[in-house]
Amino acid sequence: MRATIMHAPGDVRVEDRGKPAIQQPTDAVIKVVAACVCGSDLWPYRGADTLHEPRPMGHEYVGIVEDVGADVKNVQPGQFVVGSFFASDNTCEICRSGYQTGCVHRQGVGGAQAEYLRVPLADGTLVATPGTPDDDKIPSLLTASDVLGTGWFAAKAAEVGPGKTVAVVGDGAVGLLGVLAAKQMGAERIIAMSRHADRQALAREFGATDIVEERGDAGVQKIRELTDGLGAHSVIEAVGTQESMMQAIQATRAGGHVGFVGVSHDVALPGRELFSSLVHLHGGPAPVRQYLPELIDLILAGDIEPGKVFDLELPLDQAAEAYRAMDERRAVKVLLRP
Ligand SMILES: [Zn+2]
Repeated sequence: MRATIMHAPGDVRVEDRGKPAIQQPTDAVIKVVAACVCGSDLWPYRGADTLHEPRPMGHEYVGIVEDVGADVKNVQPGQFVVGSFFASDNTCEICRSGYQTGCVHRQGVGGAQAEYLRVPLADGTLVATPGTPDDDKIPSLLTASDVLGTGWFAAKAAEVGPGKTVAVVGDGAVGLLGVLAAKQMGAERIIAMSRHADRQALAREFGATDIVEERGDAGVQKIRELTDGLGAHSVIEAVGTQESMMQAIQATRAGGHVGFVGVSHDVALPGRELFSSLVHLHGGPAPVRQYLPELIDLILAGDIEPGKVFDLELPLDQAAEAYRAMDERRAVKVLLRP
């Protein structure tokens, strides 16, 4: 089968690899219908994460179940499924509390930018849709696998709700879908921080009421000006750098909440400033499995169309170009079709 392999920073190739097979009785193998490139895939692409050996890429996927292990009961061959980027049993105490990405049996899912994918702990990880969805729903269902679920968790972690003012740091796909999530959760005012016209337009389409182009201290100042000097109730951090994290904390009012979902890279929080801020911090790898049934329903009902974040679609064989386009910010997010 064809699969996307990262050999070194900037070096992504689509190669022939062995088709994955069932290894554990709890596994499923799916035929990938669509996959995509994640902002987090750009960290190793840019050399910010170390690659110790060639890495099969991709952790966002929708597909058709091809084969299941002997112990799998909840999904069966032929079903269309959406899964999380972490496999989880969905039965342990941590999973039952809604934190499937902290599952005591969690395993990373990797290699989804390929024709076939092995998914461990299939019963806990995969959610089947009712019937096979129409083709126009596939991009949106694919977002539920990670970016939408991550934006959703960020909004929950930031305690977004009716009457709240929300600020979103980061205008990548997760930040934009954080805007969509905040809108769905009834936020009164949603301030998107972005300096790119195309992303600002999509943020507005998803529900942003204000745009702030400044970043760093100037960005914080602007958020305070827009909120009577208080700061936002809820701030979504969707980048993962020192600057973005501090921007998020400083843009939050005393008693407010930061939901941070950008994969943290060399972020060091100053204890005294954190102590003085009176801000709640919650975040991490989003337990998208918790939200999959609800998100699938919203998408199939046509209530949300998160698939609009894909502004480029390429055949799998052009995965290298997909990475280049996102790295050079020519595309917000690229969908790959095997
Ligand atoms: Zn678990």
